[in-house]
Amino acid sequence: MRLHFKSSLIFYAFTLRVFLVILFAPLIGFAQENTLTRQNPIYKTIDDEQNRLHWDYWGVEGPAHWGMLTKEYMTCEAGSKQSPIDIQARGLSHRQENLEFLYNISELHEINNGHTVQISHKSGCKVDLNKRAYKLRQFHFHEPSELHINGKAFPMEMHLVHQDEAGHILVIAVMMEIGPEHPALKNIWNWLPSQIGKETSFPIKVNLRKILPANTEHFSYSGSLTTPPCSEGVQWIVLTEPIKISEQSVKKFSAIIGLNARPVQPLGQRHIELN
Ligand SMILES: [Zn+2]
Repeated sequence: MRLHFKSSLIFYAFTLRVFLVILFAPLIGFAQENTLTRQNPIYKTIDDEQNRLHWDYWGVEGPAHWGMLTKEYMTCEAGSKQSPIDIQARGLSHRQENLEFLYNISELHEINNGHTVQISHKSGCKVDLNKRAYKLRQFHFHEPSELHINGKAFPMEMHLVHQDEAGHILVIAVMMEIGPEHPALKNIWNWLPSQIGKETSFPIKVNLRKILPANTEHFSYSGSLTTPPCSEGVQWIVLTEPIKISEQSVKKFSAIIGLNARPVQPLGQRHIELN
């Protein structure tokens, strides 16, 4: 009887420990992410917002539950203009929107934030959309692609996140298909930080314009951030011409980050333009 009581006690102590670990694990992750963003002021406006509470691409903290994790993420569930979407390209009317890349050689820093590899730069890359300037804040990658075109996903997708002076966000999405990659992209891939919270401590010099296609034909639509808090009012530009990435590079990214694509969301009342 005494022995039985003792083993029950051990059992309860163990259960309590497991329970406490489960309870506090997200808080530990939260603290780590906050330290990480504090060290990188360039991420402040976009990433502080994104990393307030832990979320994931699978399980109980996965995309189907983002809207229920906290009221700050409610838009992920309740929003009506969410990203990504499936772009049905047939029959879209041609408009004349003027997009110009004013990118130059940049000094880049790469960081593994646990959700993607995010790359910041300190020089003045920007785009001009209908004579409005948007500064490049950061770019990052998804595997597989988040957007679909005519029902089809691509092996990877690049997101170039820009902001204008008033704070409006413009994301340029570039699809990535398997093929011989540009040496500038390979240079970025050589330095992918493999551990969460790690950042390259030296600048990597890359001419970003060389990675992108010369052709600026694109789809445009109004959407959201594809990660919590899924804020809407984001202008999306999706280049119609994909860029190439080697199979080996996709595998390397996959080994470091794993799958990081939010499923496609309903288009609803929105219109997609071809420019
Ligand atoms: Zn993204």
